[in-house]
Amino acid sequence: MSQDDSQNGEGGEGGEGGEGDEKRRRRRSGPVTKGGDARAAKQFHTRVKTARGRKYSSKLWLERQLNDPYVARARQDGYRSRAAYKLIELDDKFGLIKPGMRIADLGAAPGGWTQVALKRGASHVAGVDLLEIDRIHGATLLVLDFTEEGADAVLKDALGGPADLVISDLAPWTTGHKATDHLRIVALVELAAHFALDVLKPGGGFVAKVFQGGATDELLDILKSRFAKVRHYKPPASRTESAETFLIATGFRG
Ligand code: SAM
Repeated sequence: MSQDDSQNGEGGEGGEGGEGDEKRRRRRSGPVTKGGDARAAKQFHTRVKTARGRKYSSKLWLERQLNDPYVARARQDGYRSRAAYKLIELDDKFGLIKPGMRIADLGAAPGGWTQVALKRGASHVAGVDLLEIDRIHGATLLVLDFTEEGADAVLKDALGGPADLVISDLAPWTTGHKATDHLRIVALVELAAHFALDVLKPGGGFVAKVFQGGATDELLDILKSRFAKVRHYKPPASRTESAETFLIATGFRG
């Protein structure tokens, strides 16, 4: 068995006879999905023992992190979060980020989306989060509660001009109380959308994480009247078990 085989745990299985090594290697790269890759992932699945003092939920979280191909890729590619791949996949599908763009990043910590925006050519990113974010060259990162009065004006100032794109990965800190959490989710999406309507240039775009029931029909109607196209998409990097999806509005009419 070659080293490649052993790393992928396929041990020559898979009936790929006739294909070159290179082709086989290419097919094996990227996130684990189905068939042989899924078999390989299962074989190499790391189990975390329940230690004294470690809650079962922490054990499950740790196990998921250790076995998540996006977490490994983020480490390899130098991204601060696996969330970075959600923006990469959204951008690959919808062509959102263009060189020279001025971008607002809402809920930016720890900085994965900001890194992607800059890597893909944005000239300036202004980000905001409740949490402090380590410096990223080319970005102005503010510690601010976006729901506070005046936060929009501070972020607008940091942008330094009209935005080409507003990206929001805002996710409220949940309380466990369903009704309260739902209200928080709706409020954050609405705030992000109204901010986008306020700061975008004509032709601009808006991307926001929404949860099931996250964007009200009323908000969707507003967005549909102000943007040429409004779509929903759940990128592969978004975990199947997560209720999140993304709203993509393009062609701002001004
Ligand atoms: N896009 C980020 C990345 O790629 O690294 C991940 C963002 S994380 C999923 C969601 C963020 O929203 C959290 O860091 C959280 O602190 C932030 N957040 C939640 N409520 C907020 C608020 N009211 N104001 C600012 N940030 C908020």
